[in-house]
Parts: sequence; C-alpha cells; structure tokens
Amino acid sequence: MRPELGILRAEFGADQVLDGEAALPFERDWRGRATGAQAGRAMAVLCPRSVDEVQAMVRAAARLHLALVPQGGNTGLVLGGTPDASGAELVLSLKRLNRIRRIDPINATLTAEAGCVLQTLQQACAAQQLLLPLSLAAEGQCTLGGNLATNAGGTQVLRWGNARDLCLGLEVVTADGLLWSDLDGLRKDHRGLNLRDLFIGSEGVLGLITAAVMKLAPLPRSRLSAWLTLPSLEAALQLLPQARAALGDGLSGFEVMGQAAQLLLPELPLPAAPWALLVEVSSHRDEAQTRAELEAWLAPALDAGRMLDAVVAHTEAQAHALWALRESIPGAQTRAGGNLKHDIALPLDRIAAFVADCEARIQRAFPGARPTVFGHLGDGNLHFNVAPPVGQSLAEFQPHEAALNRLVFDCVADWGGSFSAEHGIGRLRAAELAARGDAVGLDLMGRIKQALDPANRLNPGRVLASGSDGNRAD
Ligand code: FAD
Repeated sequence: MRPELGILRAEFGADQVLDGEAALPFERDWRGRATGAQAGRAMAVLCPRSVDEVQAMVRAAARLHLALVPQGGNTGLVLGGTPDASGAELVLSLKRLNRIRRIDPINATLTAEAGCVLQTLQQACAAQQLLLPLSLAAEGQCTLGGNLATNAGGTQVLRWGNARDLCLGLEVVTADGLLWSDLDGLRKDHRGLNLRDLFIGSEGVLGLITAAVMKLAPLPRSRLSAWLTLPSLEAALQLLPQARAALGDGLSGFEVMGQAAQLLLPELPLPAAPWALLVEVSSHRDEAQTRAELEAWLAPALDAGRMLDAVVAHTEAQAHALWALRESIPGAQTRAGGNLKHDIALPLDRIAAFVADCEARIQRAFPGARPTVFGHLGDGNLHFNVAPPVGQSLAEFQPHEAALNRLVFDCVADWGGSFSAEHGIGRLRAAELAARGDAVGLDLMGRIKQALDPANRLNPGRVLASGSDGNRAD
C-alpha cells in the first residue's frame, strides 16, 4: 500500500477512501474507451459526505502533492472524470453530496448539492408542479455537479438553453481548499466578474462544484410529441422556422435521426426514411389546444409534401415510447458493434451541406464506412458517428481513428462549426483543442488555470493539454 493511502485513511476513515474492487466503478468510463494498458487506475477514490470534508480532502491532496479528478455520475464521454493509467491520481467522487437543500416556489429555484442525480431532482421538482428543464439520456445517472461542470445540453436546449442558462449560482471548493459560495439565487447581481460562468463548463479543472441554484419553470400542462419522416435534411431544416412560427416558445424538442440511426432501433413508429424528426411541444395550454396547434402546423406541411409522414403520440405513454426510442440510439449503436464518435456543432444554414460533404469525404477515404447521424438539430448539434464497413470490427477500424477524426474535424472547420458541441474536451479531445483552438483563447485559458490552480492539481491534462502527464500535480 502506498504511504499516501495510509495517511488518507487515517484522516478520513476506510469508508471514505476506497481502493481495489470498491474503486473499479469509478475507474471505468461509461463507453469503456480506456481499456488494456490505458485502463484508468486510481490511487484511491475519496468519497466526502459534506462540503467540509471536500475542503479537507482537497487540502490533504495538496499536502501529499496528489492530483484530484472530480467525478459525479461518471457518464461523461470524453475521459474527463476518470483517472488515467498512472495509478497516481485520486478520484474525488461527489456522489455522497446528494441533499436537496431547498425548492423555493416563490423564487422558482432549486438549491441542491452536486451529487444529486438529475432525474431525482426533476422528480422532486415535478412533485411541486415545477419543471427543472434539463433533460438528457443519462439523466438517471448523471449528477447536477457533472451537468454544470460540462455545461450539459440535451434535448431541451432549444427552449431552455444549456445548463449554464439555467444556473443562478454555485458553491465551489477551490484548488486550495477555500469555499466560494454564491447561492443567493438572485436573478440580477452584478458584483464584479462573473465567476459562476467561469466554473460552469470548466470540467473540473478550476474548482469543485459542491452545490448550485437552478432556475425552475411551471410544469407544462400539456406535452405532445410527434415523429415525422422526411425526404432530406434540408426538408427537416426548412420545417424549423415554420415550427418556431407556429408553436412559438412551446417548441421544446427538435431531434433528428438519419436512416442508419433509425435502422438501429428495434421498432419504428413509421417506416425508416432518409431522415426522421422527433418534435416536442410543451405548453401551459391544455392538451386539446396544444394538439390543435401542433396539427395546424403539421397538416399543411404534409399536404405540400414537405414531409413524408407524421404520427402524433396520443397518450403520455406513447410520447414516452417515442423518446425512449430516440434515447436508445447510443446503446443500440454499442450493441451493433460500436463506432467512432464525433459530437459536433454547425451553423444551421450549413448543416445539410456539411453532412453531404463529410459523408462524401468519408466514402473517398474509408470506402464502406457507415456514418450514423442523429442529434439535437434545433441546436445545430449532431452526433456524427462512423461505424466500420460491414464485416469489419470496431477493433479493426480503430487504427483509422486519428485519420478519421482529422477528416471529420477538418470538414467541420471548413463549414464554420465546432469539433466539441456538448460533451466537452476531457482527455479525449485535449490534443484537438491544443491544435485547433484559437491561440489567444488558449493563452487566456492557460492563464486562468494558472491563477486558480497554479499547482495543476485539479484534473491535470483534461481540457488544457499542457501538463498532460496526468500524474502528480506538482
Ligand atoms: P462525470 O462524468 O462524472 O464528469 C464529467 C466531467 O465533469 C469530468 O471532467 C469531471 O471531472 C467533471 N465533474 C463532475 N462533477 C464535478 C463537480 N462536482 N465539480 C467539478 N467538476 C466535476 N451530455 C450532454 O450535454 N447532452 C446530452 O444529450 C448527453 N447525452 C448523453 C447520453 C448518454 C447515454 C451518456 C452516457 C452521456 C450523455 N451526455 C450528454 C454526457 C454526460 O452525461 C453529461 O456530460 C453529464 O452532464 C455528465 O454528468 P456526470 O455527473 O456523469 O459527470
């Protein structure tokens, strides 16, 4: 046993300092990307039960010159919250910090600790007729702290924005163990620089989020979903302004699925088409009125041949079934043998041209490779995943990963987009950011990191590639 482990156990007790078998679930990432010699191995997993303990653990790690990897629900997809292979990093899991501190119906806010699971928070708010409008397929496992650390997006961004847009305040333990608390829940507050927005989306490299205040909305009275099939991506895009005009603020989801993604699903509400859309409308009006609005938008588009077919869910259960289909795509891809993933954003007016161009470039460079495209079209965010040619395993295709990424990200850049839309940078895309990021922007990021974490103790090598050995902090 390493002497540091003994020191940590003596200070915090064995129950809060896990290693061996008990540490395994914290060491593996959701996708199982880090395997073999690359498999994550932590010196120990620290599991604080209070904010005081988080501070004490951060100070202990500093005394022992150890790096800390904050972790929430461990659903991140870019190797940001799991340890590297060195066995020298400490994971600091915030899962035991899971108290809802307050739901305030007058201010319409939720104050909760970082380790609360998103779905638990949604349910607690719904019980008070309030909506926490953040929703993603990992909501049964991901945590509020992780959502804010990654500025999570999901399926409701079109209406409510990213996690950042929903957050009114944070409580953060700094790299030197101090506590910064800004949990007043004020909607107007201009006391100096906006530290909250600095920590949101910083993927644990600047501080540890221990609690947050989130904005809530009234629970919608009606929520309707429709599955539409379309001849082309252009047709799907042309429907978006029309949907906005017809449904206004009620338009809360506009998800797209290419044919290859549809064909992964065990059953479909309509025959697979070149493209399908899953549209959600949520409204404070009653269901009959919302249905009338939705149908008033759909009928002329169908008559004019702008869509091939449409089906509107008639019950809550049917709507859930449609969303379950959409959310099952990542799992279905894994079961189908896996693929190489790209989480990208494009300007909406160029997204169709980008897809056509990128698919053509892929066919020229990797004949037979199968792009599987789906995502949050309303936000210009596509999951542009590429499966190996039929008959080839993912392991056989993997050696092409660097060349394929280069091709896809070059194409994204050519069309004015971003190689990282909502999943973040972590370790997986740190080299990409270093190579493709704006030089001045990268320099500013480095200076902020240096100011807040001069010893590079928090999540070293994540986001900012400098100091990317990922081992000892200093
Ligand atoms: P973790 O995975 O534990 O950590 C993520 C990052 O945040 C790491 O860098 C970690 O170090 C840091 N971190 C975690 N907690 C804290 C904290 N308290 N303080 C400081 N840093 C911290 N993401 C989207 O944006 N939109 C989607 O639609 C979406 N869909 C997904 C679907 C599936 C099936 C899966 C598996 C993932 C999906 N994700 C999506 C990615 C992921 O779920 C989100 O990024 C989520 O917000 C991560 O939360 P987590 O608690 O699991 O964080």
